Amino acid sequence: MRILLLGGTGEARALAARLHPARDIVSSLAGRVPDPALPVGPVRIGGFGGVDGLRQWLRDNDIGAVVDATHPFAATITAHAATTCAELGMPHLVLSRPAWDPAGAVRVASDTDAAAFIAERGFLRVFLTTGRSGVRPFTGSEAWFLIRVVTPPDTDVLPRNHEVLLSRGPYGYDDECTLLRDNRIDVLVTKNSGGALTEAKLAAAKDLGVTVVMIERPPLPPGVTAVGTVDEAVTWVAGL
Ligand code: NAP
Repeated sequence: MRILLLGGTGEARALAARLHPARDIVSSLAGRVPDPALPVGPVRIGGFGGVDGLRQWLRDNDIGAVVDATHPFAATITAHAATTCAELGMPHLVLSRPAWDPAGAVRVASDTDAAAFIAERGFLRVFLTTGRSGVRPFTGSEAWFLIRVVTPPDTDVLPRNHEVLLSRGPYGYDDECTLLRDNRIDVLVTKNSGGALTEAKLAAAKDLGVTVVMIERPPLPPGVTAVGTVDEAVTWVAGL
């Protein structure tokens, strides 16, 4: 049975490494970043063309099961995969790393709510780690932003006062403390991505008294089977 592994995360790469070559897998990336970290084994890159395109692609490529190991905020592809697999009666698993649960964080439902909170409370120096697509709600803000992204945001969405820091994790506690201190950050805005690679910023913020604004995850589609670890996904695949 050939398995489609929807990827773009460290967990997806780890799962591919556990399954290949014993299992017949194809990993899929969206093609958003110019130099993606590639998983082992066969890889295809680019969107499928919505639910219809995905359904056709699954048929054309003789796929028997789908593991969705995309990022917890990649809600569109997750919804498309859930819908398509339900329609086709195809085994389908979501691998979603556990969420962070830092004490004292301000929880908000969206990046727009995060921007409203920053404005209401009058924060002046913001560390923004919501990714290139999470900058737009902050465009009109008067605060200064340190924007850490893997690929640069479009220039028309950048707030007036900002610095763009291009980098890719993982990040360590000491470096995160230095970054917060050197830039006199008073608030950190982050998605609740979960995972160890970018978690150090939370401990650094807590220890330095920096407010954390946490954008909560979109819910998973109803009725999907979900696991939190690569080990559990390997077990699910073994049971197919
Ligand atoms: P999204 O909003 O859920 O998906 C938008 C469209 O991109 C989908 O409709 C699909 O296009 C295509 N797509 C997304 N993931 C794909 C995949 N793995 N393979 C093939 N096509 C895919 O996704 P997103 O939030 O833009 O994220 C894109 C990719 O970046 C994901 O693979 C995700 O794992 C990774 N990523 C996302 C974040 C984040 O914060 N959102 C962070 C790190 C990594 P069609 O409709 O044409 O099929």
